[in-house]
Amino acid sequence: MIELTVFRTGAVQLARSAFAPWLEAPERDVFVECPVWSALLRTPEGLILFDTGLHPVHVERPEATFGANPAMRITMTAEDAIVSRLAALGVRPDDITVVVNSHLHFDHAGNNRAFPKATFIVQAEQLAYAKGRPNFPGVYWDDPGLTYLPTTGRARVAQGVDVVPTPGHAPGHQSLIVELAETGRVVLCGDAAFTRANLERGETPGHDPVAAKESLALIRSLVKDDLDRAFPSHDASASRPGTYR
Ligand SMILES: [Zn+2]
Repeated sequence: MIELTVFRTGAVQLARSAFAPWLEAPERDVFVECPVWSALLRTPEGLILFDTGLHPVHVERPEATFGANPAMRITMTAEDAIVSRLAALGVRPDDITVVVNSHLHFDHAGNNRAFPKATFIVQAEQLAYAKGRPNFPGVYWDDPGLTYLPTTGRARVAQGVDVVPTPGHAPGHQSLIVELAETGRVVLCGDAAFTRANLERGETPGHDPVAAKESLALIRSLVKDDLDRAFPSHDASASRPGTYR
């Protein structure tokens, strides 16, 4: 029996066009608060974390990672820190067996160093691409004390839990397929889909827009077009916090 808990690790304020480039003025220029979601999976094989969220350095200093940027503002409370979120669920960092990073952007791998006992599953292509790139700040994840398991293609993490490549937002980006006993299959999209609107339109901005479109189609096929089963990474309404079985 697998139990999935979705929780927030902070938020990023962006113009709506950042996730929905098809919008026209004035909608495209409206600033919205986009939550940053992570998820805990309790499985018979151990505790699995999907993405480690924003680092709590941003509670006091929202500009800590990229400086003052009028196009992107971080808002984060102390309760958003992943260690606090996990504590509220009765979980200590060392209890986590496996961490799956969709990719290594700072809002998805911000707390990797809080989990020195875990094995990190990241696509080999993403690891190679992210290393040394300023927009994948290594301070949060590139630590020789962490154990990375470079993965290629679709791979089993545990019974009923598989990573699947969903490139486009970044090379080697991956999503997580989870087979739940009551809810059925769900897909944790990561940044393959920022919002439900990306899945509905089959369109999302990205490093490789063609691959990104294919990845959206793959996610839709994995959930048989039931978009309630797809959890986008930054949707204010479509990624419901809570527990699913
Ligand atoms: Zn990203």
